[in-house]
Amino acid sequence: MGGRGSSSCSSRGDRTSDYRDREVKPYRGPPMTLESAAAAHLRLVVWCKACKHQSELDPAEQARWYGPETPVLEWRGRLVCSQCGSRSVDVVVTGTRR
Ligand SMILES: [Zn+2]
Repeated sequence: MGGRGSSSCSSRGDRTSDYRDREVKPYRGPPMTLESAAAAHLRLVVWCKACKHQSELDPAEQARWYGPETPVLEWRGRLVCSQCGSRSVDVVVTGTRR
């Protein structure tokens, strides 16, 4: 009985790993977090649509405030313009190398 169980289990195990591979694909990697933005040496340029105020933020510093695992998209939703307090801010993620 044990032999039968293990043989069906091993063929199932093959399929499981295939399944897992497929499950990951649609995501195309984990969402960018403040930590990964800092690790990639990206710069976050915040631009206010209301007063045109623009400022550049250091993701490493933001990670300290909001938590390194905070997704950039979520962090963006919490941003408020430091100048006029407007919530209609745009964030541009840029690389350091040019
Ligand atoms: Zn503003």
